[in-house]
Amino acid sequence: MQKELDFYLSARKKLCALNYASFLIEWDMQTEAPDNSITANSEQSAVLSEMRYRITTDPEFKRCVDALYEQRDKLDAVLCHEIEVVHKDIVNTAKIPVEEYSAFSELTSKAYPVYVRAKKENNFALFRPYLEKIVEYCRKQTKWLATDKISGYDVLLDIYEPNYTQEKYDKFFNVLREKLVPFVHSVTARPAPLPEWAKGRFDKEKQRVFCEYVRDVMCFDKTRGVMKESEHPFTSGFGTDDVRITTHYYEDNLVSAIFSVIHETGHATYEQQVDRSLNGTLCGGGASLGMHESQSRFYENIVGRSSAFWKVHFPKLQQLFARELKDVTTEDFVGYINRAEASFVRTEADELTYPLHIMLRYETEQKLINGELEVRDLPDFWNAKFTEYFGITPPNDTLGVLQDVHWAYGNFGYFPTYALGSAIASQLYDAMSKDFDVEASLSDGTTKQINLWLKEHVHKYGASKYPDEILRLATGEDLDPDHYVNYLIAKYSNKAMG
Ligand code: ZN
Repeated sequence: MQKELDFYLSARKKLCALNYASFLIEWDMQTEAPDNSITANSEQSAVLSEMRYRITTDPEFKRCVDALYEQRDKLDAVLCHEIEVVHKDIVNTAKIPVEEYSAFSELTSKAYPVYVRAKKENNFALFRPYLEKIVEYCRKQTKWLATDKISGYDVLLDIYEPNYTQEKYDKFFNVLREKLVPFVHSVTARPAPLPEWAKGRFDKEKQRVFCEYVRDVMCFDKTRGVMKESEHPFTSGFGTDDVRITTHYYEDNLVSAIFSVIHETGHATYEQQVDRSLNGTLCGGGASLGMHESQSRFYENIVGRSSAFWKVHFPKLQQLFARELKDVTTEDFVGYINRAEASFVRTEADELTYPLHIMLRYETEQKLINGELEVRDLPDFWNAKFTEYFGITPPNDTLGVLQDVHWAYGNFGYFPTYALGSAIASQLYDAMSKDFDVEASLSDGTTKQINLWLKEHVHKYGASKYPDEILRLATGEDLDPDHYVNYLIAKYSNKAMG
């Protein structure tokens, strides 16, 4: 087996180098690169992708992975997990007919600009034939990738969040539908008006000063990471020593950049706290999309929207915006950042109503992929469900079924991971609270104690275990939606009664 192991480790080294180069190009394109460099950059990226493809489809690479997979019990735990994941990837790729895969890539690249136009012009009919073909491919994909364990929509869900099936998600969303929908109706029936002070203009440079302060509060290690600006905030990283985040400042919105920085620093803290021994393996970084999002949302919503946090840090914000926030109390501010109202667009939704946007997408995808809903009936289905959950009806498809780009790329199964993130965050919070008083820990002006707990119970594992396994290790149980629903109801209860 030593020969196979040596071959595999040497291929992995090349893959890591190629991944690193791609990461740098991608980062550059989204932050510093001049507009006209995009074409040249894309060409270089395509070459790197092809090199990566050649390594992973090389028959000798496959033979070595097969051999290691057969004897994986003899490998150390991290390598055993890595080989399992790589093996599954190879097996799945081989199941998809090459000509179907190329046709699908071509289809989605043609579909994207049509989608953009359809959304802009509120014209679902324009996008419909493309989406029909995309759904048709995804339905076929579920047949190609089916195993004796999973079939149908489960196959797609598993691509984005391993081991989370419809059985688990159904249980999760059923609890949300029964307990959260009526509660959301009671809260959003009386939305709080936007306070006058929040409608002002907030100097970008002062916002930057506060965002850098927040990053320090969260103990972001600047010797191993940077923060820049980009159109849409994101985090990317390569190992524990190079973690990069971005933000976007809006002068007409005081809190947008603050919460995006808290969110992205949450992602970054995860990356920076992975065990160093995983650098150079394929088990660095986060365990899954849902697990990564659970960390960013933990910091953004549970920590960043709490009274305990702002009791310590609002004075600093008020000092920077002395004139704008002159008459605003900490309580006013905390009330403002926790406003909830029914709205049409998922990406602008608040913490309380957000999961209902995901529930709607989950049900829609499930029915589409399992053949119970056709693309032609999509707008009507969407609007009826939206009205049922939110009590308001989208005035057009731009604000309705056409708002998200995911389906134009064929990314069915991605959305549920967004709701999973918030739910996992609540479950971790309950487990953490058994160990120490989370709110009281913030009084030292940092999130240090929280960071340490998350490092020990989640971050250190990186992607060396499956996300459901990490959740069980950290909280002693499988995903239980009651943690999430109870957290939301407790947080917004005073408003429901108000
Ligand atoms: Zn995120």
